[in-house]
Amino acid sequence: MSKIFLLGIVFMVFSKAQASEAIVTIDSPQSEILKTKTEDIQENELDLAQEIADRLIAALTPFFPAAGLAAPQIGIGKSVFIFSYNRDPKNLEIVINPTLQPVGDEKVEGWESCFSAVLKTGVWECAKLSRYEKIQVNYLNISGEKVEKILEGFAAKVFQHEYDHLQGYVNICRKDAEVKRFENKQEYITFIQEVKKQDAARYTKS
Ligand SMILES: [Zn+2]
Repeated sequence: MSKIFLLGIVFMVFSKAQASEAIVTIDSPQSEILKTKTEDIQENELDLAQEIADRLIAALTPFFPAAGLAAPQIGIGKSVFIFSYNRDPKNLEIVINPTLQPVGDEKVEGWESCFSAVLKTGVWECAKLSRYEKIQVNYLNISGEKVEKILEGFAAKVFQHEYDHLQGYVNICRKDAEVKRFENKQEYITFIQEVKKQDAARYTKS
């Protein structure tokens, strides 16, 4: 076997490992990154943002339909996340360097799961948190253009959840979270299916 052929095999195996991106959980050795505020993407780092977005999409793909995922959850301390206002992967948006402001002071309590919490070995938990019903968001899209819009309902809930990840917060670790622990995976899934139904009634396209 030639050296080049062998190198080719090594490269293929490596590429495959890259393609199936692992999600960092709060009990994994890399968990410190989940508690660390991210750094903004610089003007000359849009290629890096694209690479991060591609890796986020690859990591989320096995869980479609899914609401979103943030860079720290794949071990990257940069201000990038992806989210979908209705869990449909076709509607995933790439968000870079976001900021958010509440519009009005209405808050809605709701249950949320998080991949960094539920993929923990053998522990099934979710969190009840109060989120603003309506927010104004500003961020850069993948072309580096400024985006400003109003999000409400489920889109606002997800955006606030993913934004928390960039601030170094996982929902179940927040001081104001009411954490619910389930006996087993099935009990958790039954509960979350009900939460997803309630979320679906609040899908609002911006
Ligand atoms: Zn999360």
